[in-house]
Amino acid sequence: MLQTLENTIKDSLRDVPDFPKPGIVFKDITPILGNPVIFNQTIEGLIEIIKPFGANAIAGIEARGFVFGAPVAAKLNLPFIPVRKPGKLPWKTRKVAYALEYGEATIEVHEDALECINQPLAKVAIIDDLLATGGTTQAACKLISSLGGEIVVCAFVVELGFLNGRQILKDNSAVCSLARL
Ligand code: AMP
Repeated sequence: MLQTLENTIKDSLRDVPDFPKPGIVFKDITPILGNPVIFNQTIEGLIEIIKPFGANAIAGIEARGFVFGAPVAAKLNLPFIPVRKPGKLPWKTRKVAYALEYGEATIEVHEDALECINQPLAKVAIIDDLLATGGTTQAACKLISSLGGEIVVCAFVVELGFLNGRQILKDNSAVCSLARL
């Protein structure tokens, strides 16, 4: 089932050259969202690949990580933790800065983000649409870990294998994706 889904996802992605800047081929996932059958299959696929890791919470990275992470959390009846860009979360936050190809970025979570988990240990699955260099997800892992959570798996709809982003994640958690390019 997942092999077929991998092809379906690959066929659904739209390549947008030179977006958001020259030299980047942006993998547009909106055709997946526009097709409810494929969107549903993608959510079910993510559920299937993260289930063995026994997460008791799902964290999604703004913004496309929300689109995929929140339905997964709702379907698994697990809390959803939003990891956001700076200045968006209304309560007290914790931040991590990380390097981008050019410059720096910051992400934040609420300080009490793990309090919704009614178990002694937060076992968190991080979900995003795409793994490129891994810097964004690594920063999200640091944030969740700094709150005392354990990252059990980082899961992606798409992985740009040639950038080898899983290399910087794999020592601290499992890494999986539905489609590898
Ligand atoms: P990275 O931190 O390099 O792994 O980048 C991952 C984040 O940037 C994810 O939230 C992706 O949505 C986005 N991203 C990076 N490169 C691309 C790309 N070529 N196409 C679409 N999204 C990308």
